[in-house]
Amino acid sequence: MISLKELPEVKGKLHENVSLSKRSFFGSAGSARFLFEPLNMDDLVFFLRNIPQGLNVIPLGAMSNVLVRSGGIDGVVIVFGEWFKKIYENDEIFEVGCAVPCTKLSTLAMDRELGGFEFMMGIPGTIGGALKMNAGCFGSSICDLLVECEGVTSEGEIKWFKKKDLNAGYRHTDIPNDCIITRAWLKGTPVKYSIPKKVNELMAQRRDSQPLGAMTCGSVFKNPEGFKAWQLIEEAGCRGLKIGDAQVSEKHCNFIVNNGEATPEDIENLGELVIQKVLDSCGVRLEWEIVRLGTK
Ligand SMILES: Cc1cc2nc3c(=O)[nH]c(=O)nc-3n(C[C@H](O)[C@H](O)[C@H](O)COP(=O)(O)OP(=O)(O)OC[C@H]3O[C@@H](n4cnc5c(N)ncnc54)[C@H](O)[C@@H]3O)c2cc1C
Repeated sequence: MISLKELPEVKGKLHENVSLSKRSFFGSAGSARFLFEPLNMDDLVFFLRNIPQGLNVIPLGAMSNVLVRSGGIDGVVIVFGEWFKKIYENDEIFEVGCAVPCTKLSTLAMDRELGGFEFMMGIPGTIGGALKMNAGCFGSSICDLLVECEGVTSEGEIKWFKKKDLNAGYRHTDIPNDCIITRAWLKGTPVKYSIPKKVNELMAQRRDSQPLGAMTCGSVFKNPEGFKAWQLIEEAGCRGLKIGDAQVSEKHCNFIVNNGEATPEDIENLGELVIQKVLDSCGVRLEWEIVRLGTK
């Protein structure tokens, strides 16, 4: 087993056996064998170029779309501090670090009267996590705004991706799994409509339909083509279904909430039970949208 001493000496923070529960939107998660918060891009690249071969490297953002199993992640989890939270502006283009919260960018675009970012106000993740998943809602997604982004591979090689390279689709991009997104350039559009009014309307729709304030990672399953996942879950009789303290939300049945003491296994087992019940009820197999990491 690799020890802390075998890892390169870095300028940022590097710790061993760190619980991820407090970071997780589920309020429940296993640990990271190593947790690294690079001081800056140079520190990140240096670290990646000098780690022992075969060490698993996983970047995390706000943890608003991941479930880390109780056995934890046997590798190094990379999290991003202040250096990766910067935003620079150049006319209609924002250069944003991967750790910038989507809500912060949405607010800035609103102040600058640039449209297209309104949907991001309801997404509690970071730019890096949002790009990986092509996060979106209400008919828009982050890759619609993308000009290009910068990433670094787990070997420390810097890469650039133009929008067309990413083959972005519904909750999908071709960003390779071994690539950490570090910066992105996103373009807004001057618009005639009132951006604050649009944001308020979208947020009201969320408040009406989602269990905001609960310990949850948002939609658990992708919408299968031609269907709404929540509707299939409802029809399969799963609204309110529970395992331990994990429960299919009464308010939005494509959300699983942690009512207090749910373990990652309660949440995952409940998700699997929902998949089975929906399959039995209508023959459609739901696919996880939440990313599951680590061992049981
Ligand atoms: C109440 C609520 C509402 C939500 N509504 C929506 C919605 O409307 N639409 C939607 O799409 N999502 C929604 N989500 C889910 C989530 O907020 C988004 O998917 C978000 O983009 C995830 O970002 P994150 O920073 O939390 O990523 P994480 O959850 O930390 O990570 C998600 C994935 O991205 C990878 N990743 C993270 N950072 C990087 C990086 N820098 N480079 C490469 N890969 C990286 C991780 O390894 C993981 O595979 C919602 C969640 C909640 C809790």
